[in-house]
Amino acid sequence: MSLTPKGHSRPRIGVSMCLLGHEVRYDGGHTRDQYVESVLGAHVDFVSMCPEVDVGMGTPRPSVRLVRAGDTVRMISAKEDYDWTEQMETYSKVQVDQLAKEPLDGFVLKKNSPSCGAFRIKVFDNNDVPSRDGRGLFAAELMRRFPRLPVEEDGRLNDSRLRENFVTRVFAYHRLHAMRAADPTPGKLQEFHARHKYLLLAHSPKHYYELGPLVANARTERFETLIDGYEQTFMDAIAKPAPVKRHVNVLHHFCGFLKQELDPAGKQELLDVIESFREGTVPLITPLTLLQHHLRKIGHPWADSQAYLDPYPRELALRSVI
Ligand code: SF4
Repeated sequence: MSLTPKGHSRPRIGVSMCLLGHEVRYDGGHTRDQYVESVLGAHVDFVSMCPEVDVGMGTPRPSVRLVRAGDTVRMISAKEDYDWTEQMETYSKVQVDQLAKEPLDGFVLKKNSPSCGAFRIKVFDNNDVPSRDGRGLFAAELMRRFPRLPVEEDGRLNDSRLRENFVTRVFAYHRLHAMRAADPTPGKLQEFHARHKYLLLAHSPKHYYELGPLVANARTERFETLIDGYEQTFMDAIAKPAPVKRHVNVLHHFCGFLKQELDPAGKQELLDVIESFREGTVPLITPLTLLQHHLRKIGHPWADSQAYLDPYPRELALRSVI
């Protein structure tokens, strides 16, 4: 396993193939996403696929769309009036079974696609009127089978908060998978939980307090069931971006470690920078950099080991824009 200097190993991420620049779209083109391919791609290993090519639609091909038929949604080829639903559903089940053999840590899907799109996909009614409440057939099977998997679309990744949250979830899930793959014990779970304490607090104190007793009472008996429940609650906890006020709360918790070490001017400087972040005049990276500078100076291993401080490789620079 190759590690970055900060100890991050490379997550394994599924991706719609056209986003990596492969010419697999219905019109023979691609929709390369520079951020996904180059920036994210420098830190993760991709598993790419194109469901429409894989089911044999060919490239180029007539486009397909989703059509409501009673209680079901069908995938119909616009030009040929051919129904691809069964082939796509069968393919999706087999493909997802394959993916289950080696856990994925996340998935980036192509927006607006009747196969890959995850959110607000057009479904046409009898009168040819679309409603934006569907999900691509492959995406639907993927998200049904792996409800904890961090999933995003290329378009939504342009939102800096959603992007930061997606990458946070991917690397957290990856660490969780790594812990589960390496002979997990109650002790290792407690260590994992301690390391993620402030990350959980920033996202959801409710979930954090739920997980505490679960971890504290962990025993080797029925440990698999317990760790499965832990994984579910952990991923639910970080499913949404952390709000500014909770980041501020966590930053103040960190300040507690520096109470004895900083003189009044140093303390005030730190509090002022946190306040500027709260007001939105500086990004999160500004108070974090100052905080880490002080923590390193005093050498506080517990605080410094918090995943909150470095949830993913720093080079991704995602906290410079939130
Ligand atoms: S959106 Fe999905 S099905 Fe369509 S070209 Fe891209 S990878 Fe293939």
